[in-house]
Amino acid sequence: MKCPYCGNAEQKVLDSRPAREGTAVRRRRECDHCQRRFTTFEEPEKPRVFVVKRDGTREDFNREKLMGSMLLACGKRPVAIQDLEHAVTSIERHIFDEHEQEISTSEIGELVTDELYRIDSIAYIRYSSVYRGFECPQQFAEIVRRMQKEERARTAESKPNGKASRKAQPIDV
Ligand SMILES: [Zn+2]
Repeated sequence: MKCPYCGNAEQKVLDSRPAREGTAVRRRRECDHCQRRFTTFEEPEKPRVFVVKRDGTREDFNREKLMGSMLLACGKRPVAIQDLEHAVTSIERHIFDEHEQEISTSEIGELVTDELYRIDSIAYIRYSSVYRGFECPQQFAEIVRRMQKEERARTAESKPNGKASRKAQPIDV
């Protein structure tokens, strides 16, 4: 931080105390060069991440919108709403922890497909087809083939019938 009097970047902190009703820290500093004193305030930035769309426009990240797109993919599927809420929370947390300013819709799409893959295979395929812009049946066939391959690999390494099944109500969209 530069001294407001001489521009020197080194100073010592003489005193730190809570300010603005505890939402900030006030620091009294003394410039190492001119020895004059000044005050700084430190406060957390309001978390705000922009979503960069394919056409380059930006909009605020919106949790409800994310939930809406996932609900749509899960329409009529036996998916528990708590599982979706949990997935949305985990995606949201990832976005705010790892992305300081912006994230692209395709990065969000990857996070969503990862979550849906765990939750419901049909919802995963539906979402992927929209978000990757499938244009022909071969693309569906390809994704199903890949899932079957992964499924075989998974069942080979875990014991048979070990999958926990939880009854959930179909989501009506
Ligand atoms: Zn100074």
